[in-house]
Amino acid sequence: MEAARGQAGADGSPLEHLLERVRRIGDLGSAAAVLAWDERTMMPSGGAEARAEVLSTVARVRHEMFCDEEIGELLEAARPEAAGKPDDSFEAATVRVLSRDWEKARLVPAELRAEMARASSIAEHAWVDARRRSDFKAILPHLERNVELARRFADCYRGFDGFEHPYDPLLDEYEPEMDTAEMQRVLGALRDGLVPLVEEAARRKPADDSCLRGRFPLPAQRELANQLLAELPLPADGWRLDPTEHPFATGIALADVRITTRYDERYLGTALWSVLHEAGHGLYEAGVDPELERTPLGNIRSLGLHESQSRMWENWVGRSRPYLKHVLPRLRRAFPDSFRGVRLDQVHRAANRSQPSLIRVEADELTYNLHILVRFELELEIFTGGLELAKLPEAWNERYRDYLGLDVPDDARGVLQDVHWPAGAFGYFPTYSLGNVIAGQLWAAARADLPGLEESIAAGEFAELGGWLREHVHRYGRRLSPAEILRRAGCGRLSVDPLLQHLRGRVELGTS
Ligand code: ZN
Repeated sequence: MEAARGQAGADGSPLEHLLERVRRIGDLGSAAAVLAWDERTMMPSGGAEARAEVLSTVARVRHEMFCDEEIGELLEAARPEAAGKPDDSFEAATVRVLSRDWEKARLVPAELRAEMARASSIAEHAWVDARRRSDFKAILPHLERNVELARRFADCYRGFDGFEHPYDPLLDEYEPEMDTAEMQRVLGALRDGLVPLVEEAARRKPADDSCLRGRFPLPAQRELANQLLAELPLPADGWRLDPTEHPFATGIALADVRITTRYDERYLGTALWSVLHEAGHGLYEAGVDPELERTPLGNIRSLGLHESQSRMWENWVGRSRPYLKHVLPRLRRAFPDSFRGVRLDQVHRAANRSQPSLIRVEADELTYNLHILVRFELELEIFTGGLELAKLPEAWNERYRDYLGLDVPDDARGVLQDVHWPAGAFGYFPTYSLGNVIAGQLWAAARADLPGLEESIAAGEFAELGGWLREHVHRYGRRLSPAEILRRAGCGRLSVDPLLQHLRGRVELGTS
């Protein structure tokens, strides 16, 4: 029998007591998520400093509550309840996941965590200005500080859970249970397959995407975005959409999903595909087994799996011919001047236009992963290859020439473009590409299981795909490891082949 997830009474089992303790910590996490959502959607900018203090206090209190000795004692006491239960049982998975989190959390001194948070906040501010002036020297001392702290952070995990590579602990923050060697195997194969495809695309003419450019009044875009979300299998009365500068999605509760997007009056593609992307994240958050809500297994930790869901809805669904066939009549109604006389073929090609470009967040689907590979390789060189940070712009520019055939005109459009390194987030970037690889594999598996998938998408019916993803991915939360989720979904080991096959089709479509 599964442990009751209600309030543990005085006579509750050790696991019930443990869950009650951890539930309070999780509730503070939900409170912080609301504050963070508010910060990026509603809060006047004047509130930034005060909000940073509040969020830092909540983070510190949660950390202290979790690292408490008593959590360890409760874990020990709960072990017999999990012993002998199958690995994927609630009891065994909870004890496994919590033990690892607890041991990990206690290895890093609180002062080092506070120092990292402080350094990243100072560096982020310096970065805004450095990027505006394209001044790498201004950010260099901050990057040096972040890297030094990240090294100290990684050192805390020496010998933990099979970590071998100095980059393993950094990666584990964003992709638990994935090691550097496997990431190098996967992303190396992706680079080898992708560079020739991008070279071929670059020799051709980018597809015409003029139907997506022009003037698209914001009220009509907002209405369209809401319509697109309303037909996805999101929980009824359980989501909302708001505008923001850098789109994200966050699950406050299973039936409280906050989706955000950005609108560009001159380019319809920004809102269209960012809404579908963030909806993919939201569907994942909402799809966790309700039994796991407010338990340690209800929190999704693998950014790779998370990104696989967003990319699938954005690219495999959102840029596909069946989906665009379904959406085109609506585009004609919402923006008659832009879509009068435009054929499905044209929209399909415009949606998949491919051309190497300098900025990651504006990159098309075909070239996107090369931007990530540059960053992943440079991170490995910084942490293990002795790359001096002062030489980072040079190393960056060289790779953009080699992989994308582009000359980087200035650091603002080069090494300074992303916030991740100033924010001290090393190990984050590769999860974006991992997400694309996984999306390719999951899509192939879903198609094999659902022979009518494309017809249902063309008819604007998404319950079939949504149900498949919920059944094979979402519902597990952290009950299974990402590798086990993929194995059970019929994907086998990580493989770049389905993604490369998908992208090969995009070369033809996105160029002429
Ligand atoms: Zn995403």
